[in-house]
Amino acid sequence: MSIKNIASFGEQTKAIHAGEVPDPVTRASSPNLVMSTTFIADADSGFSVEGLHENDNWIYTRWGNPTIHQLEQKLAVLEEAESAIAFASGMSAIVALLLHTLKAGDHAIVSDIAYAALSELTNEMIPDLNIEITKVNTSDANSIRAAIKANTKLIYIETPCNPILRLTDIAEVASIAHEKGAKLAVDSTFATPVATKPLLLGADFVIHSLTKYLGGHGDALGGVILGNHEVLAPLRKKTSIRLGGTLSPFNAWLILRGLATFPIRMRVHEENALKVAAFLEQHPKVKRVIYPGLPSHPQHELARRQMKNYSGMLTFQVENGKEMVHQLVDKLKIIHYAVSLGHQRSLLYYMNSKELLKTSFHFSSQEQLNSWNTFAGEGLFRLSVGLEDAEDIISDLKQALE
Ligand SMILES: *Cc1c(COP(=O)(O)O)cnc(C)c1O
Repeated sequence: MSIKNIASFGEQTKAIHAGEVPDPVTRASSPNLVMSTTFIADADSGFSVEGLHENDNWIYTRWGNPTIHQLEQKLAVLEEAESAIAFASGMSAIVALLLHTLKAGDHAIVSDIAYAALSELTNEMIPDLNIEITKVNTSDANSIRAAIKANTKLIYIETPCNPILRLTDIAEVASIAHEKGAKLAVDSTFATPVATKPLLLGADFVIHSLTKYLGGHGDALGGVILGNHEVLAPLRKKTSIRLGGTLSPFNAWLILRGLATFPIRMRVHEENALKVAAFLEQHPKVKRVIYPGLPSHPQHELARRQMKNYSGMLTFQVENGKEMVHQLVDKLKIIHYAVSLGHQRSLLYYMNSKELLKTSFHFSSQEQLNSWNTFAGEGLFRLSVGLEDAEDIISDLKQALE
């Protein structure tokens, strides 16, 4: 009883109805939560992933589960992808993607500034597998062209990137990758499918941390890889099922529930972020605000072209960031001083450049360091603007910055 031509409906209708199937026995209108790890098998059921077929009955939750399946279907419709594979976390999706697309002797180009755990993973563990990684400022197409080699199999970007909100032109990088027979993966967690649909711009894989905007409520870790069926079917069989980073059906159910309001939430995230950014930009203690929706963002033109919604992430710098952290932690009443992002609550965190450059970002050129400094300086506050009333978020920041 799922809606046949769901793709022709609006974003909010898709968010509510796509993928969901009322229970045929109870006729429950909301998706069922199926926590069972195993399912009653037929006498001739096999025991190997190799023999697993698309339309088989459910066998074991690591191989597939009806609640997780409904989530995957909904995410695929929202991203306009043929297929989706859910994971226990964003990082678990990223690891599966890297191990699936790269083998010993291969080369990959990875954004020099990206989510810290991905940066650390590609600084150390992945090169230990004899996979060569080149870190590149992917906002500069020429740097990518210069780094690409005969054995380059993957280009991996984040746009806007964490934590400095630098953008990469997806269509341009996709064409560079495909000219050389490489694949393009885009971590689109900060943008979300409401803003940008990388697959339609030529990307081969899209990754989201469902923990952020898609789940949206700060109560469930999750991740997803989206792409063409032909590319994802072997990934599910060979990698996802064997690495075992399986999403809990309970988390899938929470994220499904969060997704019902996803486009509505993104509208308010953007509306609030624009107001907060405008407030911060005129505040005497604030040196700089970076938000793709502000004309002052160095890539605002690209943001206008590539993002239908500027999302809710912004960063700002103050004169003495390290001291200001203590003041803000003491004085903030509504905004939580905490990592993560994309939740209904506003979250603020200070990113100290010195620390990050030591632990997460290893630049090989002065140009890369300059790019970091341009955006981040000695450190920056990353603010995930939540869904509280914009006036209350602004008052909270105002009294705390005094
Ligand atoms: C949070 C995040 C991740 C990792 O996701 P988890 O769900 O925390 O594992 C990856 N990429 C980006 C851009 C993120 O913000």
